Amino acid sequence: MNFHIITLFPESMESYIKSSIIKRAIEDKKISVKFYNPRDFTNDKHKRIDQKPYGGGPGMVIQAEPVIKAIAKAKGRKKKVKIYFTSPSGKKFTTDIAKKTANNYKDTIIICGRYEGIDARIKKVFSMEEISIGDYVLTGGELPALVMMDSISRQVKGVLGNVLSCEEDRISSPEVYTRPESFKYKKKNYKVPKVLLTGNHADIDKWRSSKRGK
Ligand code: SAH
Repeated sequence: MNFHIITLFPESMESYIKSSIIKRAIEDKKISVKFYNPRDFTNDKHKRIDQKPYGGGPGMVIQAEPVIKAIAKAKGRKKKVKIYFTSPSGKKFTTDIAKKTANNYKDTIIICGRYEGIDARIKKVFSMEEISIGDYVLTGGELPALVMMDSISRQVKGVLGNVLSCEEDRISSPEVYTRPESFKYKKKNYKVPKVLLTGNHADIDKWRSSKRGK
């Protein structure tokens, strides 16, 4: 999976993709991440890309043309590319969307808005899906893009060390334990639930399902 991120602030995303599983996935060439900054696609001599909204109102709007050029560059000659536009009023992002994206596309473009958003005409030039990561408003689309990228990457074969780590496909639990079997903190003992030590996998699955609320 190749991710193409359209953002004014690539540096805000870099430390995340340089850590842990995503870092390894990039090193192992299971995924790649490229940034395209609309600022590099403007003819304005001050590299300005935001202007006041038509019709008035607060804030600034990112101009369509630099974003369109950035998308065109990301798309290149590739035919099958999924384009997501991050927006608080989009369709809610889910594991199902992550799975479908990972299974059906090799290239995903994610457009990060900022300020009041991006001139709506970009949606007329390229067909894209508007996605929200939750019912709250953030200051930019970079966190949503990271959330989507992280979740889609987990669904790409070979990204998680063990295929079975994809909890969607097995009985996992929000409650997990590791060594030691018990420890003391402020005079109180904290023990691992007994069932997990039994080796009885039917019982363990049952216990995990109950924790999952299923
Ligand atoms: N007034 C705008 C808010 C813009 S917030 C509106 O109602 O749409 C600035 C940018 O942050 C958005 O363009 C979008 O890219 C991103 N963003 C904010 N909250 C988000 C959310 N919950 N999900 C996805 N993207 C979000």
